[in-house]
Amino acid sequence: MRILLMGPPGAGKGTQAVVLADRLGVPHISTGDIFRANVAGGTPLGVEAKRYMDAGEYVPDSVTNDMVRDRLTHDDAKNGFLLDGYPRTLAQVSELDSMLGQDAALDRVVELTADTEEVVARLLNRALDQGRADDTEDVIRRRLEVYAEQTAPLTAVYADRGLLTQVDGMGAVDEVTGRILAELGV
Ligand code: ADP
Repeated sequence: MRILLMGPPGAGKGTQAVVLADRLGVPHISTGDIFRANVAGGTPLGVEAKRYMDAGEYVPDSVTNDMVRDRLTHDDAKNGFLLDGYPRTLAQVSELDSMLGQDAALDRVVELTADTEEVVARLLNRALDQGRADDTEDVIRRRLEVYAEQTAPLTAVYADRGLLTQVDGMGAVDEVTGRILAELGV
């Protein structure tokens, strides 16, 4: 199964993605996690990405697309994957289409929906436990704006292709997982 999980920052994508990938037996491919691993490792990619991430802006497509193209060639992604956080722009949608080709196109797109004030509260809470550099209130609000401007329009594209399912991301983690699995028919 080739699945894309979308949703605004704080909707719970990362948390759900880990559980779902395990249930579905596919790798969880999170561009945010790959960027953070590079930041932590001090790689040139991490140094470049950090400038954007800390401001709540998207890392340029030229960097992100190559990174995903490379990750998708790994053997573990041959029979499916759960993409989390990519594509996030219309240009990335076209790139992903060309990476996958017609034979290995996405099977489903799940959008987790969330209430804005609730996600701000969740992210501020996460800042207390994890100390992510982009979880300050100003940067959180900027990330939500960028999501609304650049990423929310992708749902219309996937809805036109008949791939989109919207799932309410509010509530307990296992309730949300149950809703997603029910929608996926798993
Ligand atoms: P969140 O969904 O909570 O914002 P992520 O961990 O998915 O968190 O992403 C963190 C940051 O990594 C983003 O704010 C952005 O700077 C960068 N990033 C992740 N995925 C992409 C992408 N597909 N295109 C551009 N930038 C990205």
